[in-house]
Amino acid sequence: MHLTMVGTGYVGLVTGVCFANTGNDVTCLDVDPEKIKKLEADICPIYEPGLTDLMIKNRQSGRLTYTLDKKAAYQRADMIFICVGTPSDDKGHTDMSYIDGAAEDIGHAIKELGPDAKAKVIVVKSTVPVGTTFRVRDTIKSIVGDIKFHVADNPEFLKEGDAVTDFNKPDRVVVGVESEMVGEMFRDLYDPFVRNGHPIFIMDVLSAEMVKYASNNFLATKISFINEMANLCEAYGANINRVREGMCSDSRIGHHFLYPGLGYGGSCFPKDTLACIMMGDQAGVTMQVSNAVHGTNERQRNLFFNKIVKHFGGEMGLNGKKIGFWGLAFKPRTDDIRKAPALTLVRKALGYGVTCNGYDPVAASNVSMEMGDTIDIHDDMYECARDCDAIVISTDWPEFKSPDFDKLASVMKGKVIFDGRNLYRRQHLGELGFHYYSVGRTPITPTT
Ligand code: NAD
Repeated sequence: MHLTMVGTGYVGLVTGVCFANTGNDVTCLDVDPEKIKKLEADICPIYEPGLTDLMIKNRQSGRLTYTLDKKAAYQRADMIFICVGTPSDDKGHTDMSYIDGAAEDIGHAIKELGPDAKAKVIVVKSTVPVGTTFRVRDTIKSIVGDIKFHVADNPEFLKEGDAVTDFNKPDRVVVGVESEMVGEMFRDLYDPFVRNGHPIFIMDVLSAEMVKYASNNFLATKISFINEMANLCEAYGANINRVREGMCSDSRIGHHFLYPGLGYGGSCFPKDTLACIMMGDQAGVTMQVSNAVHGTNERQRNLFFNKIVKHFGGEMGLNGKKIGFWGLAFKPRTDDIRKAPALTLVRKALGYGVTCNGYDPVAASNVSMEMGDTIDIHDDMYECARDCDAIVISTDWPEFKSPDFDKLASVMKGKVIFDGRNLYRRQHLGELGFHYYSVGRTPITPTT
């Protein structure tokens, strides 16, 4: 099948590469000339384990091409997957301009082909407010008139950092269609990905769009729930790690997404929670749970920052201090820094006159681009900690889990760790002479 991906971001590129890898002829289209230039030189513009090898293999086989030429990319495709961004403002209004722009371009390309061309399937893969696929259909129809085409919604559930594995072995594939014939096209396309017996759910378009929001809102709810429990544990001297062990071994509850921390970030959970609240507002349905989940998440970073403020004797005490930040992306195994908790903390610290060092195994260049020289980026985690009054850990990269504490203590000015991921045993840190703050556990002061 001839497929065109609209947008070569985390979703479009991974989807295009994985579809090419199962034998499809895939064109990846973007409006960003820099991205296309890199891709044509086999340079992956994002950090995603396993992606570069597949990109190279499939480009060399001739099944994968990259282009800036919208018209050609749309006209040659049997199926067009819209994978553009759908960011939101702080109130939760989704910016539809990328979706609308793509729909208009597709409409003009189809119109030029005329009524005798084979009907194309336009697939919305971006996460979109419910009803958007029909909005895309209406936009295209207003341009092409009676020329036939189909629309579908196919939300994506991959996780950054595991995107290739997730796409190749999805827990489920969800597709919203208006006709059985289009549903069958999706069954054929995804058949190589569900040989492990995982299901393809073919449903109506509106329900498919809602599945994605329901899933992300539920996962965000789990994170805010455990963070709120962590705060309660701190207030009563309980240990959230012990609590989650006892709680999560209940098979009805499970362990996933119940790790306390700094709250969720990234390009999906924050905006998808807000979008649900906004969709509720527009329909007169109060989304009380989503509202609370969002509020708890916003608060969590502030509560953590307050621990730093308190340790240094108040806001004034922060002035002139130096803090090293380990982990800058919104989670490990990605270079995506959108809504990253670490950067919220860095910005707050800068506001109080703190000198900020930063280290991240893969996100450093993105941080430099966004923050300029307000943060001093290091390519070694101990150099990041050198002469610091404290370090702050925001993501649980494996290399942070068992650092050389003697080396760390020898380079730091103060022996203070603020751990937003609960990586260490508190007693051990106390014995090593550190002040140690984590989430949902009583802080430890040096015992030696
Ligand atoms: P992204 O910002 O990484 O990539 C979007 C790409 O689209 C950019 O490269 C941009 O240049 C390009 N683009 C914009 N307008 C275009 C146009 N008219 N024609 C061609 N290209 C155009 O976005 P992303 O993270 O891949 O997310 C895309 C969508 O998928 C969003 O709706 C997101 O919510 C959803 N989603 C993301 C993830 C994730 O983990 N990132 C997971 C599931 C779903």
